[in-house]
Amino acid sequence: MSLPTLDTLVSYLTIVAAVMGALLAALWLSLIIWAFRDMRARSRDPFAQLLAALLVAALPVVGIVIYFILRPPETLAEAYERALEEEALLQEIEERPHCPGCSRVIDDKWLLCPHCHTRLKKACPDCNSLLELQWNLCPYCGNHAVDPYKANVVHTAVPAPNPLPEPEETEEADPVSETELQ
Ligand SMILES: [Zn+2]
Ligand SMILES: [Zn+2]
Repeated sequence: MSLPTLDTLVSYLTIVAAVMGALLAALWLSLIIWAFRDMRARSRDPFAQLLAALLVAALPVVGIVIYFILRPPETLAEAYERALEEEALLQEIEERPHCPGCSRVIDDKWLLCPHCHTRLKKACPDCNSLLELQWNLCPYCGNHAVDPYKANVVHTAVPAPNPLPEPEETEEADPVSETELQ
């Protein structure tokens, strides 16, 4: 009775070993395929793809750990997406207006550059709208008497501190202007 039981035990063990072996072989093969596919998503280099598959094939457990440590951190799709985002960001920076004097980023509503004092816009004398420097008319109010390139300083009415000194100044100024004319 002991001999048949040993035989059946051995045959059971061989079946279990065969199934285990087949499962391990399937796992090993699928890991090789996975490593090859994963590397293909991360690198266009066919040598690197083959090397990843060979590494996992040669070292079944350690190979996959080494592959995880050494594989490129991002896939090609992720790298492409990141490049697109960077490009969009750069374009956004380039599209913002720059000062012609110091090429710093400026605001559309600025009359002067605060960094280099370059005149950026001029104000319409009638409606005070901001105009480009080379315009010779105002598109907002139709004023045709806008001097091109003329820096139109925003007028702030400065009240005279004393009304009395003014006639003295004009009296003094008159002879000067007369001498200048002569
Ligand atoms: Zn500037
Ligand atoms: Zn105007």
